[in-house]
Amino acid sequence: MVDLAGLVDRARAGEARAVARLISLVEDASPRLRDVAAALAPHTGRARVLGLTGPPGVGKSTVTSALIAALRRRGRRIGVLAIDPSSPFSGGALLGDRIRMHDHTTDPDVFIRSMATRGHLGGLSLATPQALRVLDAAGYDLVLVETVGVGQSEVDIVSLADTTLVLLAPGMGDGIQAAKAGILEVADVFVVNKADRDGADATVRDLIHMISLGRREIPGPHWRPRVVRTVATTGDGVDELVSAVDAHHDWLVSHGELEARRTRRAADEIEAIALRTLRERLGHVRGDETLDRLSKQVVAGELDPYTAADRWCAGLRPDP
Ligand code: GDP
Repeated sequence: MVDLAGLVDRARAGEARAVARLISLVEDASPRLRDVAAALAPHTGRARVLGLTGPPGVGKSTVTSALIAALRRRGRRIGVLAIDPSSPFSGGALLGDRIRMHDHTTDPDVFIRSMATRGHLGGLSLATPQALRVLDAAGYDLVLVETVGVGQSEVDIVSLADTTLVLLAPGMGDGIQAAKAGILEVADVFVVNKADRDGADATVRDLIHMISLGRREIPGPHWRPRVVRTVATTGDGVDELVSAVDAHHDWLVSHGELEARRTRRAADEIEAIALRTLRERLGHVRGDETLDRLSKQVVAGELDPYTAADRWCAGLRPDP
């Protein structure tokens, strides 16, 4: 049996193995998940969450590594969650290893962890917020959540992050296409990486043009996304990137948006947990045979699916 309070204390004292252990507990949805969450709660709410997304090969790992270096120079402790939506492997493989290979292996104030989301019900939405809480409670000032921009993950990352960075690179025509397809709404800061390559100016121009066209009809105060160019391999532009990220954070705070975003995030989390609990209870309390019987009645035209759903839920109590 794990000594949870001891584990949380050790994580808070900066012991990486304790942090890793806690993340494994939340990631595996251990039976003690509830207790872990309760033990962490009083220590959370401090960390800033930075989401970073973009197509494969755009330079996410390299930018992450350069950002870590820049933030360490400012004395900040950094946690990194590298999310791989296509991989069933967790705990140090893939993206995390690639970042780790750079300069941060021996720095006790940097914690890097890969997480796989394939096979997890709800993808990013269940395990990642809990892992974020672990890093928050462990006292990392800033947590970077890195994910490949495939399908829903951009949208997922937005619901997790205080500030979302979208990476593009010149010559990746699909990058701008993706931007047109909705990245504009999610990006707080655009990073045009590989700015040493031809076409960087055109990419920046296109983005600025799109930003000038967008968002006019949305009421209330709104942040105008910044565009920053970087050469992650040399570190050029990374200080400007940190400034843009900090400026966005200040804007969130001064407009009450940080609180609002975090409240929405907590609401999503509560809803996801509640829905999962409900689903589990439906399975346990009512049994699969009930569902099977109701389904056959629907197929036979004896019941409509709404009535069937009512019957399936009937008798469920919120707290059995
Ligand atoms: P990811 O798949 O988005 O994580 O991309 P990586 O960080 O692995 O980078 C993909 C390739 O692009 C690697 O070979 C990097 O060295 C290279 N790369 C990253 N940033 C830059 C940059 O600013 N300029 C150039 N020329 N190459 C870069």
